[in-house]
Amino acid sequence: MVVTNSQNIPYARQSVDEEDIKAVLAVLRSDWLTQGPTIGAFETACAEYCGVPYATAFSNATSALHVACRALGLGTGDWLWTSPNTFVASSNCALYCGARVDFVDIDPNTYNMCPKALAEKCEKAKKENKLPKILIPVHFAGQSCDMKAIKKIADEYDIRVIEDASHAIGGRYCEKPVGSCQYSDLTIFSFHPVKIITTAEGGMIVTPSKEIKQKCDLFRSHGITRDPNLMEQPSEGEWYYEQIDLGYNYRITELQAALGISQLSRVNEFVAKRHQLAKYYDEALSNLPVITPKRLQGYSALHLYPIQVKLSTKHNRKTIFSALRSENIAVNVHYIPVHLQPYYQRMGFKRGDFPQAEAYYEQAISLPLFYDLTFEQQDFVVDTLRQSLAQR
Ligand SMILES: *Cc1c(COP(=O)(O)O)cnc(C)c1O
Repeated sequence: MVVTNSQNIPYARQSVDEEDIKAVLAVLRSDWLTQGPTIGAFETACAEYCGVPYATAFSNATSALHVACRALGLGTGDWLWTSPNTFVASSNCALYCGARVDFVDIDPNTYNMCPKALAEKCEKAKKENKLPKILIPVHFAGQSCDMKAIKKIADEYDIRVIEDASHAIGGRYCEKPVGSCQYSDLTIFSFHPVKIITTAEGGMIVTPSKEIKQKCDLFRSHGITRDPNLMEQPSEGEWYYEQIDLGYNYRITELQAALGISQLSRVNEFVAKRHQLAKYYDEALSNLPVITPKRLQGYSALHLYPIQVKLSTKHNRKTIFSALRSENIAVNVHYIPVHLQPYYQRMGFKRGDFPQAEAYYEQAISLPLFYDLTFEQQDFVVDTLRQSLAQR
């Protein structure tokens, strides 16, 4: 029997419970709304969860990416490489620093940065003296990149590595949590409501490096320090602080940090449920002409469930997407390759530059996947998809 759908089914949605609400209300009644003790507690909880000593919370992952680039010294004349199959923030951070951007094409099985393409591009760039200072692999849909292979190449060419794990908190790679920075300098998480856990807006940098942690704290708040060890002049009194670099106001609030601590306590449960839902889709979609996302690397956090509509069917992605949307299933597409955005095309990128990311994009649809999604809603999604694929 086909379930009829009166409600909108989004592609992603936060899960906020009474405990979350209580945690936020407690902070609202406290002395500190920002720059208080809860932010530090959230950072400690995140660092402990990832098994690293340091974490700095940010207003969002975009500001965290910008500061990460500053902390690693990215500037004018430098290059940064990332995946074309990502949100624009992963590459915009380089442009904020006056650096230049290029991309490394994806592996058609994982939709993540392809180590082989990276090795080839590095070899060529070395000859042209255009090697990047920073590489940002993106753990697309929550599945870790092949970090072992990527880090090996990065080390060979002396490139720093930032993991954009905006999709991937709660995931695992090589027996360790994503964020352990086993194969990177630092890792970034996003806590936007569509992601695995939320603080409304919010982001985090986790790192094993004390030096990076100090720079993160500095750039998050105007380049100002109260740490006598970092000051350039003797203190003039207890009020004294120094601006020693040009930073920003990229702070998160105490309210958001409280929500973050509460949400983080459920991250394993969130991801386990996503695996149940993904498995249900895998089976329900197995005899439809679509390619389901493969989980080939570690334990995915399963932020997204992107299917590929096979080109051999008589339908194109657009008609199937519209059929789902017209049934109030708010499917989405992740991602329009960044290099095809008009702003990037104006820098000289063009169609054909990254053929794997482009081919993937042409057929991609992200089906709804979030903690409170029900099997009945999944049945409705699959039935609607089946009908749209059967139509002529
Ligand atoms: C969501 C996202 C970001 C940006 O996160 P915000 O917290 O919204 O700034 C960056 N990179 C990727 C891959 C994302 O999905």
